[in-house]
Amino acid sequence: MADDTYRTCSSCKKPIAFLAPYYACSVSTCNRKRTALYFCSVPCWDAHLPEARHREAWAEERRAPSRAEAEREVSVAAPAPTPTAAAETPREVLVVVSKLKAYVRAASGMNTSDACVDVLSQHLRRLCDAAARVAAREGRKTVMDRDFGVVLADWND
Ligand SMILES: [Zn+2]
Ligand SMILES: [Zn+2]
Repeated sequence: MADDTYRTCSSCKKPIAFLAPYYACSVSTCNRKRTALYFCSVPCWDAHLPEARHREAWAEERRAPSRAEAEREVSVAAPAPTPTAAAETPREVLVVVSKLKAYVRAASGMNTSDACVDVLSQHLRRLCDAAARVAAREGRKTVMDRDFGVVLADWND
């Protein structure tokens, strides 16, 4: 595909350049995101009519977006962000060290070695990852307290 091609004509396959006028079909089924039709001319739009069998249709003149606009459209239409690859996920400390140490001291009178913080952070990450999977399974985008309940029940079995 040439660099300045926004789309190719659905009939004649001629390129439709960025910012060039083109024709779209007035019927919504010809404009579904994945299967949208683009025509370089009205005769090319005419050509899809026998197959489409629209009851009522007309060609709508439109203007192709600029390359920058098209790229923005793509990023807006992109699906929800996929989880960052494991290598990119931050490996920071997830617990408040001073509070953790204070708790252990209060509960048991013991000191806490600094390395514990990493182990616990790693544990929290595993817990969060598992809870996020539970939430995703239920079609949610928010991890909820009950997801941790499900995970912990699993882990305790
Ligand atoms: Zn055409
Ligand atoms: Zn159509």
